[in-house]
Amino acid sequence: MLVDTHCHLDFNWFDQDRDEIIDRAREVGVKRILNPGITLRSSEHAIQLAEKYPEVYAAVGVHPNDGSSWEEGTISQLRDLAVHQKVVAIGEIGLDYYRDHTPHELQKRIFKEQLNLAAEINLPVIIHTRDSINDALDLLKIWCSDLKDSKSGLVEHPGVLHSFSGDQDDAKQARALKFFVGFTGPVTFSNAKDLQELVIRLPLQNMLIETDSPFLTPHPYRGKRNEPARVKLVVEKIAELKQQAYNTVTEITSANAAQLFDW
Ligand SMILES: [Zn+2]
Repeated sequence: MLVDTHCHLDFNWFDQDRDEIIDRAREVGVKRILNPGITLRSSEHAIQLAEKYPEVYAAVGVHPNDGSSWEEGTISQLRDLAVHQKVVAIGEIGLDYYRDHTPHELQKRIFKEQLNLAAEINLPVIIHTRDSINDALDLLKIWCSDLKDSKSGLVEHPGVLHSFSGDQDDAKQARALKFFVGFTGPVTFSNAKDLQELVIRLPLQNMLIETDSPFLTPHPYRGKRNEPARVKLVVEKIAELKQQAYNTVTEITSANAAQLFDW
């Protein structure tokens, strides 16, 4: 069983051939696809797709690059969306200092509000960081310590640092917080030595596999539009790097995803 724990199936990049893309994912054995939202609108669309396709699940949230879409009532609208039975997480949320579309202080405020929502309704979080991992980890440490104080069950599996791009020390901090670490297409790139070293050192028990489609397409399709069927290439590379059987990698990482998203 393969699982794509992060795919933007709602994007209009897929409007022409979404059914075919789902079919191709089914053909290679993908049984679960998680579609996180980036705005309220995108979160609603993710839920519609989860209603249409049995293997699709949704997360709801506002991405840091879409912070300008945040309004007074957004948090309560997210809360309303999150009661849907196929919504399994709050995301994707976080901090992005690379694109810098939203002032850092505003990004932090939106991030914190959504972390608090996740704690309140007991859903794990899908975290995006870019050039911002230290600030994100600082906020997550506070959040996790509050979870502990309030005896929240989330403290055992609070979420995932999606498409991880930190270093060994960042990965260690993520593990200490019991966060999963998500890996995408770049692990297959020949120039991604640091990322590959990280995969070699990190136990499979801490990993999730994702595509982040339509982005981050693995080798040898780099540059083309990505899709969930290509999650297989990421798993194959991780199996090779860790010198483990393909089935071992799929079993453990799929079990990790099931634990986190309770599907
Ligand atoms: Zn994403």
